[in-house]
Amino acid sequence: MPKRTLYSEDHDLFRESVKKMYAKELVPFVEEWETKGLVSREFWKACGDNGMLLPDIPEAYGGGGLDFKFNAILLEETALAGTTGPAFGVHNDIVAHYIHNYGSETVKSHWLPKMASGEAIGAICMSEPSTGSDLKAVRTKSTPVDGGFILNGSKTFITNGINADVAVIAARVGDDSGAKAISLFVVACNEKGFIKGNKLNKVGNRSSDTAELFFEDLFVPTENMLGEQGSGFIYMMKELPQERMSIAISCQAAAQHAYDLAVDYVKERKAFGKAVIDFQNTRFVLADMKAKLQVGWAHLDACIQALVDKELTTTEAASAKLWHSELRCEVVDNCLQMFGGYGYIEEYEIARLWRDARVMRIYGGTSEIMKDLISRSI
Ligand SMILES: Cc1cc2nc3c(=O)[nH]c(=O)nc-3n(C[C@H](O)[C@H](O)[C@H](O)COP(=O)(O)OP(=O)(O)OC[C@H]3O[C@@H](n4cnc5c(N)ncnc54)[C@H](O)[C@@H]3O)c2cc1C
Repeated sequence: MPKRTLYSEDHDLFRESVKKMYAKELVPFVEEWETKGLVSREFWKACGDNGMLLPDIPEAYGGGGLDFKFNAILLEETALAGTTGPAFGVHNDIVAHYIHNYGSETVKSHWLPKMASGEAIGAICMSEPSTGSDLKAVRTKSTPVDGGFILNGSKTFITNGINADVAVIAARVGDDSGAKAISLFVVACNEKGFIKGNKLNKVGNRSSDTAELFFEDLFVPTENMLGEQGSGFIYMMKELPQERMSIAISCQAAAQHAYDLAVDYVKERKAFGKAVIDFQNTRFVLADMKAKLQVGWAHLDACIQALVDKELTTTEAASAKLWHSELRCEVVDNCLQMFGGYGYIEEYEIARLWRDARVMRIYGGTSEIMKDLISRSI
């Protein structure tokens, strides 16, 4: 990996503590989580105990009071450890931020300390069976009643859907349609009317639980609406750049990890009497990937700094999500090829990395939607 100047000594110390914690609490459990389709709650609690949750949320709410670079380190180290399991992007970078930026004082002081300790796991509920890219078309409906709203509808593809204790839900109010009808609600997942459906059987990302959710006459008190009624779509557009950066960060680190595994393998593996790395094709493919990874890190670091400085534009975040997710898929596929038949065998980590990569071009907004967003700025 090229030398990076983004991080300070404090960041480096945090990274070391994350690495140490992962060696004990994460790496030995990845296979078990893959089989169960779920990261254990004990792991989330251990992360809370080690001060790894909600790094950039103020200390007054139980967070670390630090900058987003600490969140980025967690994402990088998780990918470098070869897993997509614990969905820190959703918990730390998305759900906590919706609650912190738009929640009432009661909601913030109730949920954020629990999320910081690992007692509560967060989920973000936007996508529905009939709509994902077109968020203006969500059908989940909230009907105003005395003291709050009654929610009815369903969501799908929800990360942490099974493990979740708290969910941010996008729903329209009344019979209105369009972006201005959408509001966001914070809901405890054990409320009557909040129904967890099937854990979805995915191609990859298997240790991260993804589920369908159903809301049947789910009562939500008025104070659990985030911000202003009808502003949900605006809030989603404001928060999506950070979500997209989370994905870009994971993608760059996962691509680096796959590359490192491939380099080790081709140095050992022999064909036609020599190491696979000695074929010019292998060296050229590796050289191409190495150059792209170098440029990728420089670009990623510039975007992380811009995000911390609150200068990252929606277009830049979309470009980062598009480019780093496409890079991850390209690199992981090239790396699998270098493993030959073993690359296709589950016992080899590269096989899992290949399966895990594919969804990156789909969730958080597809590559096509990223291109659409970018093209609007031209
Ligand atoms: C593992 C996983 C985890 C997920 N986690 C979450 C989560 O936690 N919370 C959540 O809310 N959602 C989550 N999602 C949902 C994800 O964000 C959506 O799947 C994604 O946004 C695409 O929506 P869709 O599946 O409805 O596809 P569609 O919107 O139906 O798109 C189908 C195809 O049409 C293309 N398309 C659509 N519109 C356009 C256009 N305007 N121009 C060009 N092409 C277009 C798309 O790019 C795609 O190729 C997750 C999905 C997966 C698979």
